[in-house]
Amino acid sequence: MAARLIDGKARAAALRAAVAERVAAFPGRKPGLAVVLVGEDPASSVYVRSKNRACAEAGMRGFEHRLPDTVAQADLLALVDRLNADPEVDGILVQLPLPKHIDANKVITRIDPDKDVDGFHPVNAGRLATGLPGFVPCTPFGCLMLIRDVRERLAGLEAVVVGRSNIVGKPMAQLLIAESCTVTVAHSRTRDLGLHLARADVVVAAVGVPKLIRGDQLKAGATVIDVGINRTDVGLVGDVDFDSALPVAGAITPVPGGVGPMTIACLLRNTLVSAGRREGVEIDE
Ligand code: NDP
Repeated sequence: MAARLIDGKARAAALRAAVAERVAAFPGRKPGLAVVLVGEDPASSVYVRSKNRACAEAGMRGFEHRLPDTVAQADLLALVDRLNADPEVDGILVQLPLPKHIDANKVITRIDPDKDVDGFHPVNAGRLATGLPGFVPCTPFGCLMLIRDVRERLAGLEAVVVGRSNIVGKPMAQLLIAESCTVTVAHSRTRDLGLHLARADVVVAAVGVPKLIRGDQLKAGATVIDVGINRTDVGLVGDVDFDSALPVAGAITPVPGGVGPMTIACLLRNTLVSAGRREGVEIDE
């Protein structure tokens, strides 16, 4: 039997609509998201444009700051300082990657952790690891929502996260630990990926290698979340070989149309939550 297709596009649209409803009812000023783009990287420009559009559609204020790729690190840090102090700004996002002469860690750690809606600040990573309220990175947060939609109970499940980046793999593992899954994190030095995949009830692939994971490596009925976005000659493909995984998995995300749309929806949700915390407005977190 073919796997259930997890429709991230529809789920993201529902989340965005729910956020827009809360924004419309938000008392006083509207929640605001500042997006900083350094340079002209075409992929980053596309992401920033879609984030701004999504902001406007949700009724939020978007503040776009475009800086040349020659900008001095001190000037970028000064902009972050101004945004930290701006009462109209609830969320700050600095689009990565940054030009080589800028220390991305310095910029990320300069953002007020309570406006860090990307959840990349070490304070928010620490909060996630210790179970304190903070901001969870948008992509793994979106993945968890999709997993919850198809698995009634997560406690006790075997979960394998492939990839250990700070923005996807590690926070994903933390979220699944918090859900009481038994979590294995695999990476490029893992000796036998297949061994781990064979017992996984939940697989999250965040690698960046096209079709790395094949259907014959999966456990029957597994929930498969494919974060990978790989541009190939045949178009966008994920880290999972979709065609061979479909008859084996219980549920699977397509690429595109799976995890991707959830990321921006979660960013809007995080910005709304930030505004709620700052203004003392209760938001269902
Ligand atoms: P990184 O390059 O930062 O991390 C990739 C991880 O995969 C590393 O931990 C690496 O291991 C591991 N890895 C590499 N090769 C293998 C292998 N052969 N077997 C097992 N593990 C391997 O990537 P990101 O986490 O930033 O992104 C991963 C993918 O997700 C990319 O395709 C990216 O485009 C996509 N993405 C999608 C988003 C969305 O919104 N849908 C958002 C963010 C990312 P090691 O640590 O040992 O090097």
